[in-house]
Amino acid sequence: MTASAFPNMLKPLDLGFTQLKNRVVMGSMHTGLEDRFFNYGKLAAYFAERARGGTGLVITGGISPNRRGWLLPLAGSLNHYPDVVNHRRVTSAVHAEGGKILMQILHAGRYGYHPFIVSASDRKSPIAMFKPRAMKESEILSTIRDFGRCARLAKLAGYDGVEIMGSEGYLLNQFICNRTNNRTDKWGGSVENRMRLPVEIVKQVRKAAGQDFIICYRLSLLDLVEGGNSWQEIVTIAKALEAAGINILNTGIGWHEARIPTIVTSVPRAAFRQVTANIKKELKIPVMASNRINTPEVCEDIIASGDADLISMARPLLADSEFVNKAAAGKPEEINTCIACNQGCLDMTFSGKRSTCLVNPRACYETELVYVKTSQPKKIAVVGGGMAGLTCATVAAERGHDVTLFEASDDVGGQFTMAMNVPGKEEFQETIRYYRHLLKKTGVKVQLNKAVSEAELRNAGFDEVIVATGVKPRVPKIPGIDHPKVLSYPDVLKHGRKVGHRVAVIGAGGIGIDVSEFLLAEHSPQPVDHWMDEWGVDINSADPGGLRAPKREQPLRQVYLLQRSAGKKMGQGPGKTTGWVHRLALQHHQVKMLGGVEYVKIDDLGLHIRVDGQDQILDVDNIILCAGQESVRELLPVDSEGKISDKRYHVIGGAKLAGELDAKRAIKEGAELGARL
Ligand code: NAP
Ligand code: SF4
Repeated sequence: MTASAFPNMLKPLDLGFTQLKNRVVMGSMHTGLEDRFFNYGKLAAYFAERARGGTGLVITGGISPNRRGWLLPLAGSLNHYPDVVNHRRVTSAVHAEGGKILMQILHAGRYGYHPFIVSASDRKSPIAMFKPRAMKESEILSTIRDFGRCARLAKLAGYDGVEIMGSEGYLLNQFICNRTNNRTDKWGGSVENRMRLPVEIVKQVRKAAGQDFIICYRLSLLDLVEGGNSWQEIVTIAKALEAAGINILNTGIGWHEARIPTIVTSVPRAAFRQVTANIKKELKIPVMASNRINTPEVCEDIIASGDADLISMARPLLADSEFVNKAAAGKPEEINTCIACNQGCLDMTFSGKRSTCLVNPRACYETELVYVKTSQPKKIAVVGGGMAGLTCATVAAERGHDVTLFEASDDVGGQFTMAMNVPGKEEFQETIRYYRHLLKKTGVKVQLNKAVSEAELRNAGFDEVIVATGVKPRVPKIPGIDHPKVLSYPDVLKHGRKVGHRVAVIGAGGIGIDVSEFLLAEHSPQPVDHWMDEWGVDINSADPGGLRAPKREQPLRQVYLLQRSAGKKMGQGPGKTTGWVHRLALQHHQVKMLGGVEYVKIDDLGLHIRVDGQDQILDVDNIILCAGQESVRELLPVDSEGKISDKRYHVIGGAKLAGELDAKRAIKEGAELGARL
């Protein structure tokens, strides 16, 4: 690779009054730091690191133009002059690194988590806690003025422009769609009336902030809900926004309440680029593509093919703040790729916590998790090449320690080596690729196929020993568990053991779901057309909302997914923003999900179970055990109370706690320990 490997995505874009130095934009993403003034120093460091990493333009998380527009109580807003001081810390930090920054103005409308929410009409969202009140005309007019004031203050605070959030089902989207707007005055009815609010807002913002100020508008190009707009309406709105004075049109896909996934890892890369290409043909201003774009190769392809002028990526720049610099240097293999898991970012945001990133625990913690060069290099052993061990080893080595990594199997990656084989989780192999590169770069001495013994560790004279030996699958005590029909999940996901047509999966956590999806998938990765058919998406929005009847093939297998708990949702393991996608995908494949199951025995007839006191036999070819894990920690010296008896030893990841085995915790623990050794 050479420095000119990605020429199109790096060439500047001229907006008439300003140049954007490359085509990658950090899209808006709520981190939680925007909501409290005392976190603005952290927010400044977070954005400055991305600007330093080569991103030409960053967009903040949503900032409310007034109190009714809060996403949550006391959400970040810019309504008063004193707020300007906090925001200046952020803009100055980005400008000092040579970047540009837009502030997103977000009015949540009926998506706000507080009782004072307003919308076009009083229709409650299925995902909201409160019913909104329909806005009076006087409130609509004052909201337009509030957007203008917010933009004027943003300019004072040093922002290069604003992004007006008009997609994902927030207030402006609520006005432009019949789904949520049943007004009969001049703000409802025809598309010209429904789009009046966003158009007037754009005019007001332009008037308040002047000509030399970027106005980006994020328009929903595909609503993916009933009562959404048709393509003709979307084009009408986009043209009206252009005429009103926007400089960039950004692509929004799907409302938050849509039951079609738009950003999770099983959505094919750049699945929605066509819709951006379609709107680009209708407009003169630059357009920005978004959603599931996570590598420089995909960015380059979209720009080079003329489908878009700019690429919006938020999560990939959380995962690697130096994405653009690495791409510019022709070293894409050095990029820590976002795997679209949502576990560190959106799952945190939607739980009211600060965002971070599963593969980069420094994201949003730039001032707190710092890797400082050591003045006292130590000899360190890390046992286990899963996510916890890899992170600890590479962080410690980067800091200057002499690190040896012992891995019992023939490759590094641990549980990720299985996850990457699950269709829809192909991205996980990128993390292993990244760590392989990092091991080399940081000079970690890797010993594969080496089940190191306690004596070897003792005799080698290590100053610190990190036990990151991970987990082994739990084998439940069921009569007949040794029957040849029984397989473990590594048998299936790693060792390629043959599986019959009728299958019972014991355990409906994250791995039970992964195994079920593995057994049912026809393609890996799923082609975009096939994915659109499965979920019933009409990318051309011939019908309102871009929905059409799904086309699904007969499932490859009959799968029973079982758990003992009765009330618990299946697939509780996967996160808040992804669990529903997995459950729906399993329903598409006609998986029979049973809770409250008692496992009686396994024999030649199959799996004998009892549900609600009724005995049943599941006549299956195989039973696959996905019943959780147990820690592997034999190497850990412990005293009679189970406490670590040698202070040179540390335990992290699944070896520390199997019950909550999760890669986010494993990587975070590895990074934190690596940073303080
Ligand atoms: P898990 O989520 O804890 O699920 C274990 C399953 O096994 C549960 O359904 C549990 O349900 C069942 N089980 C537990 N003990 C059992 C026993 N003695 N006999 C029979 N069944 C038993 O664990 P996992 O599926 O192994 O996943 C491990 C971790 O990896 C989780 O933290 C998960 O979040 C994470 N993960 C995440 C994803 C993702 O997509 N984000 C994917 C894979 C894994 P009952 O006790 O009700 O039977
Ligand atoms: Fe991407 Fe997952 Fe990190 Fe979010 S937590 S930025 S989805 S890798």
